[in-house]
Amino acid sequence: MIRVALSQLFIYYLIAILTGLLAIWVFGDWRRKRKEKQARRFHLVCNICGISYEDRTDDDIPPCPKCGARNERATLRDL
Ligand SMILES: [Zn+2]
Repeated sequence: MIRVALSQLFIYYLIAILTGLLAIWVFGDWRRKRKEKQARRFHLVCNICGISYEDRTDDDIPPCPKCGARNERATLRDL
């Protein structure tokens, strides 16, 4: 049987809890950033009339649904 002092057991427990919380936080942040990146890829703002719209086609410069102006997909960097 493994003998461990109560204070050591508490420290091991604390380290396990903090490691678990850190892993959950890092994974949640990674998932959130990935979803935002996917959403930004299809989101456009028209340079002429200013409306924001979503375009899921493969077209590099999709037309605006309101005015028909072609808008280039902007790649937004992480802030
Ligand atoms: Zn427009």
